[in-house]
Amino acid sequence: MTTKQTAKKLSLKEKYALMTRNLGWDTTYEPMDKVFDQLGLEGIKIHDWDKWEDPFRLTMDAYWKYQAEKERKLYAVLDAFQQNNGHLNISDARYVNTLKLFFTGITPAEYNAHRLFAMLGRQFPGAGAAIACQMQAVDELRHVQTQIHSISQYNKYFNGLHDHSVMNDRLWYLSVPKSFFEDAISSGPFEQIIAISFALEYLLTNLVFMPFMSGAAYNGDMATVTFGFSSQSDEARHMTLGLECIKFVLEQDPGNVAIIQRYLDKWFWRGYKVLGLVSMMLDYMLPKKVMSWKEAWEIYFVQNGGSLFNDLSRYGLRMPKYWEQTVAEAEHLSHQTWNSFYNFSGAAAFHVWLPSDEDMAWLSEKYPDTFDRLYRPRIEHYRKLQAEGKRYYNANLPMLCQTCQVPLIFTETDDPTRTSHRQIEHAGETYHFCSDGCHDVFAGEPDKYVSAWLPAHQILQGNCFEADANPAADGFQPESEVMRYFHVVAGQDNLDYEGSPDEANWHTWKGIARPDDAKAA
Ligand code: FE
Ligand code: ZN
Repeated sequence: MTTKQTAKKLSLKEKYALMTRNLGWDTTYEPMDKVFDQLGLEGIKIHDWDKWEDPFRLTMDAYWKYQAEKERKLYAVLDAFQQNNGHLNISDARYVNTLKLFFTGITPAEYNAHRLFAMLGRQFPGAGAAIACQMQAVDELRHVQTQIHSISQYNKYFNGLHDHSVMNDRLWYLSVPKSFFEDAISSGPFEQIIAISFALEYLLTNLVFMPFMSGAAYNGDMATVTFGFSSQSDEARHMTLGLECIKFVLEQDPGNVAIIQRYLDKWFWRGYKVLGLVSMMLDYMLPKKVMSWKEAWEIYFVQNGGSLFNDLSRYGLRMPKYWEQTVAEAEHLSHQTWNSFYNFSGAAAFHVWLPSDEDMAWLSEKYPDTFDRLYRPRIEHYRKLQAEGKRYYNANLPMLCQTCQVPLIFTETDDPTRTSHRQIEHAGETYHFCSDGCHDVFAGEPDKYVSAWLPAHQILQGNCFEADANPAADGFQPESEVMRYFHVVAGQDNLDYEGSPDEANWHTWKGIARPDDAKAA
């Protein structure tokens, strides 16, 4: 007699669980805590890795299929962009300077994110978490490649895009994003995933991608828009990983809450400090502006971040420490950051300029409480100096914050005449900070941050010269030797946009060449 078995139809969730659970195993030759040796270091307690939910339920074969489809679309657009000389359709050649900053600051950071997630994929014993991290490691590598391809067209025509990886290691202002990622990658696995997947991707990445990509669209840069959207579609998965991870860890053990709050306070502040570069892109560098930094911070952090923390308050989490200060600082951040680059652009791999009358009208409309009162007079002063042929470039080395590595360029928000400066004595040395937030991060782990590679200090110690440079030689010029070490071509990649080869070329291509352009090109 045969019995007909009617198989119970499985739900998608059950099917996925059967396909993916118990793929890992408990080791027998070596104890599990030696195989996953970083898990115990932070005091985070996980009782049951199977409680991890994969919100996307994405299997590897589906992953490769989706990603391949995205790549096909992206490269079709990039090919069309190159064949049609898409670089000529941007709003103005000044715009390309935002790409120079993005390419030297963010693209190498994506590569570090790839390394970080590959390591995390190895460190988490739960199959769900491990697979999600491995997929993200591949995503990040894809982001690096698509960015290099997208921007390679610009590299044929504009200066400063020729050496992003060396510049990321050596250029002073790029030590800000670089140190952020190196700080993360040298943390414990739970801190790493909170730093990148939650603090950076969930809370702050919209501040980079949304305004920057709509900025690219506004300014006619279809290559960047396309890689931006292609990355952003992975980002949705990454943000969900961040949120799932934080909920999972908080639900596993009540003792985890205090540790996670400490990580959030730290990484919110570290991330916010990197975003200073984004603030000046929005307010000063986009020829056609999308929204002000203050508006972006209000929408993407105060409103969106606020409702997220509202949600998380049931686990006992609160808003990150010093968030109120970031709101007060939104009135000043971009103006003070751009001012510093205007002064130090002799040692930068992109060009600067003073805002036009139209730009200044926009800035006073967006910053009615601060721009006309504090920042317009300074810009007018610079204009006057420039008109008199007295353009001033600062060649000094500024004091850097030991934590975020941003120079001490900001004022107290309630007193525009005082530089914001904090310090700590530790093991017989004095360390300097830009803010209370950075002061507290250092105080939490002083022995980690005393080893920070601070560009200004390294230059003074003579560590920023090429191997063939000889500081003892007659006529040795330390400034130009440091530029050579940065791989910045002086007189070509740096200084003002006005009078640069980039400007002269742009005028020629657009048929608006002027007599003095020939000299610059
Ligand atoms: Fe990425
Ligand atoms: Zn700092």
